Amino acid sequence: MNVLVINAGSSSLKYQLINMDTQGVMAKGLCERIGIEGSCLKHSPSDKDAVTIEKPMKDHADAISMVIDALVDANHGVISDMKAIDAVGHRVVHGGEYFNKSVIINDDVKKKIDECSALAPLHNPANLIGIEACEKAMPGVPMVAVFDTAFHQTMPAEAYMYALPYEYYEKYKIRKYGFHGTSHYYVANRCAAMMNRPIEDLRIITLHLGNGSSITAVNKGKSVDTSMGFTPLAGVPMGTRSGVIDPAIVTFIMEKEGLSVAEADAMLNKKSGVFGISGVSSDFRDLDAGKQNGDAKCALALDMFKYSVKRYIGYYAAAMGGVDALVFTAGVGENSIAMRERILSNMEFMGITCDSEKNNVRGKEAEISKDGSLVKAFVIPTNEELTIALDTQKLLK
Ligand code: ADP
Repeated sequence: MNVLVINAGSSSLKYQLINMDTQGVMAKGLCERIGIEGSCLKHSPSDKDAVTIEKPMKDHADAISMVIDALVDANHGVISDMKAIDAVGHRVVHGGEYFNKSVIINDDVKKKIDECSALAPLHNPANLIGIEACEKAMPGVPMVAVFDTAFHQTMPAEAYMYALPYEYYEKYKIRKYGFHGTSHYYVANRCAAMMNRPIEDLRIITLHLGNGSSITAVNKGKSVDTSMGFTPLAGVPMGTRSGVIDPAIVTFIMEKEGLSVAEADAMLNKKSGVFGISGVSSDFRDLDAGKQNGDAKCALALDMFKYSVKRYIGYYAAAMGGVDALVFTAGVGENSIAMRERILSNMEFMGITCDSEKNNVRGKEAEISKDGSLVKAFVIPTNEELTIALDTQKLLK
């Protein structure tokens, strides 16, 4: 079985074609600037050279037909016929309270994804356009929706409710949803496999630290709390997002600076985080370089990030009555040796250790805690696409 995994954004579309027998990626790629001048497709077959095809794509339907053309192309294709695509798995950002697991897409599912657009106005409409473009291009091919929020639907009300007037939960569905669920689910299960223990016996804190970051308490395989909230703005400071702040700061700054709602939203989402503090970059590699060159604000941004992540480790250990394992994943978690070491330092009181030699690893599965450590720490590269493909396969069997 071959599953095409689609991750549609507002002007981009990422894809992977996965052979489920080997779980190998046959080809992957990215359509950029859909609907804008200069659109192009970057297509990377696994055993041939990558190609960039520049051609106007007026909408996502054009993008999907270019992806199919690339996959069946005589030179850089990987399948002979479109019929070799057995199913499509779509990443959908928001499933609201409707979806606690992946589902086969039908009209009712599409209606509910559309209803959740109010909660994810930048993502869900694009995800839906991607689904409809695939339905048109591949009639009869079964499609599955895999939601970023679904894994977190097991959180108890005491964790997901905000202490606001209850009517806002009823009227607007304001509550914590959490994101990156597919990633947290995947790495928590890989962690249990690496420990050779059933996930039902484990309390795991998964640290998805990238440009966007979230941390999840996974108790007995279920998400019981997570750092992102009603939107992906909450939690630790991120590349350009503030993370959690005193909510009164927002109205204070709006008043002082005369900011509109849209401007305040942009300030919190695009001008804050480690970028806002350093004034240099949202990329942790640039901050490392800045710190090395003596830039105090780069060093402060890195310290604030480290401190915030530590806070969540303490917080979630308390939530689960202890912790058996920590997992680092995503761009920073998989690659930043220094940040992992900073986060794990001075945590021996909780049984958390870091072995400098074992921690000298990037982008591959490894245990990084000291031998005999009470709490095990791991690096586990995330694989959201494979998780989407596996869910798709499971639902169609
Ligand atoms: P996204 O949230 O966009 O999916 P990623 O998970 O790909 O982001 O993470 C991207 C981030 O990973 C970059 O901003 C960069 O700061 C960080 N990163 C990648 N490699 C390294 C590295 N070697 N050291 C420190 N940070 C790194």
